[in-house]
Amino acid sequence: MTVSPRCAGKESVKKLRGQLFVIAAPSGAGKTSLVRALMQHRPDLRFSISYTTRPQRPNEVDKRDYFFVDERTFEQMAATGKFLEHARVFDHHYGTSKAQVEALLEQGENVLLEIDWQGAQQIRRAMPTCHSIFILPPSREALEQRLRGRQSDSDEVIARRLRDSIGDMSHWAEFDAVVINDDFGQATSDLAAIVAGETRRFSRQRPELRPLLDRLLS
Ligand code: GDP
Ligand code: ADP
Ligand code: 5GP
Repeated sequence: MTVSPRCAGKESVKKLRGQLFVIAAPSGAGKTSLVRALMQHRPDLRFSISYTTRPQRPNEVDKRDYFFVDERTFEQMAATGKFLEHARVFDHHYGTSKAQVEALLEQGENVLLEIDWQGAQQIRRAMPTCHSIFILPPSREALEQRLRGRQSDSDEVIARRLRDSIGDMSHWAEFDAVVINDDFGQATSDLAAIVAGETRRFSRQRPELRPLLDRLLS
């Protein structure tokens, strides 16, 4: 079979498949703020907008922060294989759209997922070449202050998130890289360096993580 030069030309300009970055952290560690700041420096990165059954917060915009859907819609989407991963977090459903992420990667775009550790486990199985990053707070006290300072959740919701945070953080070693979000500017540039390919400096095996993790998980 002969290939016309026009077709051959088209093939040669096809972009390489994009890279997938999975970012997880306990609620309040700062992942949404860090991802926003990172995307200011790197407008080429694309953010996957998750579906959720959680109620919309006053500062959130439907279809920008999340696709806010009801339980029935979510369950139908899950049953018909519309999610790359989905999980129940704090009594609500969250899921990543398969079509959205696949289309972006296929177009050669680099995509960020901001999801919980259960979702990260599913993505690692489905897409083993993904890069996963875990964000830690500098202390349990700072995590609580940030959850309160955000003024987006009730005391009851904050207490639940703090309770679950130790279990969430116990999954840190499953991630390729770990960032400590103490100084916000430093953490943003650390995240940018990882996305640029400097994963080794932020390896989960670096010794200075150990004392912090002992305090966070005790
Ligand atoms: P916040 O992270 O404290 O602002 O709280 P959210 O309610 O926005 O998110 C709750 C949890 O759900 C976090 O751990 C998110 O990373 C996670 N999450 C958000 N979207 C997804 C998703 O599409 N899939 C999965 N598995 N988790 C998600
Ligand atoms: P997450 O998405 O992980 O739940 P957010 O990005 O909503 O976290 O951050 C929680 C709160 O902590 C926000 O009010 C944010 O402004 C604040 N915050 C984030 N990073 C820092 C930091 N390094 N120092 C102080 N406050 C921070
Ligand atoms: P929040 O309700 O505060 O926005 O998010 C709570 C948790 O749900 C966060 O840890 C967030 O990362 C996670 N989350 C958000 N979207 C998804 C998603 O699409 N899939 C999964 N598995 N978790 C998600």
